[in-house]
Amino acid sequence: MTLLQIRKLDRSFQTGKSVMKALERIDLSVNKGEFITVIGPSGCGKSTLLKIIAGLDTRHEGAVMLDNQKVSGPSIDKGFIFQEPRLFPWLTVEKNIAANLPLKEKETKEKVSELIKLVRLEGFENAYPKELSGGMAQRVSIARALLRNPKVLLLDEPFGALDAFTRSHMQEVLLDIWEKNRTTMIFVTHDIDEAIYLASRVVIMNPRPGTIREVIPIELPHPRRKTDSAFQKIRQRVLSEFEKVEENEQSEAFQ
Ligand code: ADP
Ligand code: MG
Repeated sequence: MTLLQIRKLDRSFQTGKSVMKALERIDLSVNKGEFITVIGPSGCGKSTLLKIIAGLDTRHEGAVMLDNQKVSGPSIDKGFIFQEPRLFPWLTVEKNIAANLPLKEKETKEKVSELIKLVRLEGFENAYPKELSGGMAQRVSIARALLRNPKVLLLDEPFGALDAFTRSHMQEVLLDIWEKNRTTMIFVTHDIDEAIYLASRVVIMNPRPGTIREVIPIELPHPRRKTDSAFQKIRQRVLSEFEKVEENEQSEAFQ
């Protein structure tokens, strides 16, 4: 079942007198339960694309439909995770996850404790954000986004600020969530290994203007191993696409 449909999406920004095309003719359909990763050089429009899907940017041309409804603004059925966790420092883990919902209600309380288990933060219910590591704080923000069962979770380089070890642990946590909840994920990253490791399809973007260069299905079963030859083969393919992107960039620079 198609969950998200993007058709002929264009987004330009006016800076002074010049108009810059950030996204041009983006077409993408995402099925329910898919894990899409998006990679591409800095400035190719990845964040702009996510913001448009989230309804945070509506000044575009073309159609964006979620569950057969036009995306016209932000809503709780579209969860968004930024690179930094954006928690309320004065609230405990539990209260951050519950956001505005009262924990006194049995249903909320149960859901929050279920999510705490899911993101592996048992024992930290009453801790404050300053007492958490970067990875733990990001897990709180993921749990908060999942509280109202969003149709899609949009993640903009969510592990970009974490060290390699924490990052790899976070990938396991996120895959575990995906396998248990089948939440549709759209995940932006700079990291090729991360993109392949997580995705059911990798979307490779070109810069200036931002277009989709290629969509590569990753048919490897989970759990995946980054050292397996099948993984490495796909990695080579993605890398060679990236080299072409870079060559285009350089030849443009010389024009
Ligand atoms: P990415 O996330 O891939 O690094 P962005 O989506 O942030 O790229 O940006 C794509 C392009 O659009 C960049 O050239 C950026 O400078 C430009 N851009 C993004 N947001 C704005 C804005 N609010 N005003 C003007 N230009 C913008
Ligand atoms: Mg970005």
